[in-house]
Amino acid sequence: MNWYKKGLNFKCTGCGKCCTGAPGLVWVSEKEIIEMALAAGISPENFVKRYVRLIGERMALREIERGGDYDCILLRENKCRFYENRPHQCRTFPWWPRNLESEYSWKQMAASCEGVNSPDSTHFNLEEIRKILSN
Ligand code: SF4
Repeated sequence: MNWYKKGLNFKCTGCGKCCTGAPGLVWVSEKEIIEMALAAGISPENFVKRYVRLIGERMALREIERGGDYDCILLRENKCRFYENRPHQCRTFPWWPRNLESEYSWKQMAASCEGVNSPDSTHFNLEEIRKILSN
């Protein structure tokens, strides 16, 4: 049985901490690039030039080093510039398999995510968590 069988509490506060910190990789698909480029009012080619880096054969968002932290290039004043069109990887945080692997990994992630158990967080039961993971 899953360690989180009693469910988990989470509601994003929009603090932006998951968009900064240690270096990381936010993968983006061509479809996501087109959607964000449309929202930005620029061509997908320009979007790639400004915001995307190649890691092997895959595309990821660039990062900017600021005072020892690595901010996602789309982070502006703690908010994502393209929040409504943000990539799937961002949309599904913190419900990543690696965060749910164990109670320890969930707590480790929660140490830098104030949305976990925040005062007005939403309770997700086991079925709801399974559904999120399958999307
Ligand atoms: S760290 Fe957590 S609460 Fe803050 S923006 Fe990211 S998901 Fe939301």
